[in-house]
Amino acid sequence: MTSLIGKVALVTGGSRGIGQAVALELARRGADVVVNYLLKAEAALQVVAEAEACGRRALAVQSDVGESEQAVALVQATLSTFGRLDILVNNAGITRDALLVRMQEQDWDEVVRVNLKGAFNMTQAAVRAMLRQRSGRIINISSVSGLMGQVGQSNYAASKAGLIGFTKSLARELGGRGITVNVVAPGFIPTDMTLALDEVWREKLRAFIPLERFGSVEDVAHAVAFLASDEAAYITGAVLPVDGGLGM
Ligand code: NAP
Repeated sequence: MTSLIGKVALVTGGSRGIGQAVALELARRGADVVVNYLLKAEAALQVVAEAEACGRRALAVQSDVGESEQAVALVQATLSTFGRLDILVNNAGITRDALLVRMQEQDWDEVVRVNLKGAFNMTQAAVRAMLRQRSGRIINISSVSGLMGQVGQSNYAASKAGLIGFTKSLARELGGRGITVNVVAPGFIPTDMTLALDEVWREKLRAFIPLERFGSVEDVAHAVAFLASDEAAYITGAVLPVDGGLGM
């Protein structure tokens, strides 16, 4: 297993679901972690306790990534506590699903604000420290919906496809400075986000997955940990699907 000892990671939306698994996997591999959350302080503190139980330093920080001043404050809290920032995982995300004809303007705005502008805010705040260090790993969590589209998810799919263009542009901007920027695109992963989907729909979806199962949060966390590692030093601008083959 690759070692992340001595690295500092910041995971947005690290209190639950995929972000929680990512924060804990990075901690297990040696990184100190900042666990960002929006509302669920108790869940974030539980992740901090588990990371500390792995022998790591960890910090929970409340912040709305869609607000630039809060993103800046989150990065400042990371730097003032741990002195550096090596790995940024832009994982915080939301859905507000509706068919286009019924979609409210605020459903569009809120999804784009959190999923896409949040990644912009966080990356802009974090990249200065990485430029000073002349090294860094930025991993953006997109989705199979951003690659294939999905009925009822025009806002979400647009935000997730936008993350891919954002990633590739930054990979070009930052490649000469020792910073890699990549995307992980999960398929269907049971978490709070996907709880609302009914059983009939789940079964239909499962039939399209070549590996014949839904993914786990750990499946995604392992891919993120790889991209965060030294072994992935020559990978940038890549989109790594973790979807059991659903999106191919
Ligand atoms: P989740 O279980 O709903 O967790 C969402 C996380 O994001 C929580 O930690 C939440 O914090 C945080 N969050 C929400 N809005 C935020 C904001 N404005 N600022 C900071 N944090 C915020 O979601 P998930 O399923 O783990 O999804 C994680 C990421 O993977 C998302 O980007 C999602 O789009 C992507 N993804 C998920 C799937 C899937 O099938 N689950 C598939 C493809 C991609 P609180 O706990 O404080 O509310």
